[in-house]
Amino acid sequence: MARKKTTADPAGATLAPRPRGHRSLVTKRDLQAYRRRLEAELAELRGQRADLEEATEASLSDATGEVGFDEEFADAGSFTFERERDLSLVDNAKDLIDKVEHALALMESGRFGRCEACGGAIEAERLDALPYATLCLTDARRRVRLR
Ligand SMILES: [Zn+2]
Repeated sequence: MARKKTTADPAGATLAPRPRGHRSLVTKRDLQAYRRRLEAELAELRGQRADLEEATEASLSDATGEVGFDEEFADAGSFTFERERDLSLVDNAKDLIDKVEHALALMESGRFGRCEACGGAIEAERLDALPYATLCLTDARRRVRLR
């Protein structure tokens, strides 16, 4: 009898629990799950970015509308604040999109899960938390300290 692949997790979006204290490596099954998570993340981020860009443009055209003298003065501040907030959110989304796209590209070339600094394996636990991580824990910590 042919053994069917049984999955309690048809989407493969969740990861099997890992034994504690065990430094595990990325398996093929993990890779699938990471890819799905990254792809879902990418779609979500692209949607967010589009919404934010729209909001930023809308707030720009609002600002060119006619307003009274006092009103204009009062609005200028909140307008700048809102626009800046939106812009930094857009930047943030773009930044994350770059990271996610980079991780997916690494997957294509079979280098996913390798630390870009030392070439060692990135801890699976770290990838579970941050599928687009490109540094192992040691190098990530080192980089934070250098900053
Ligand atoms: Zn490393």
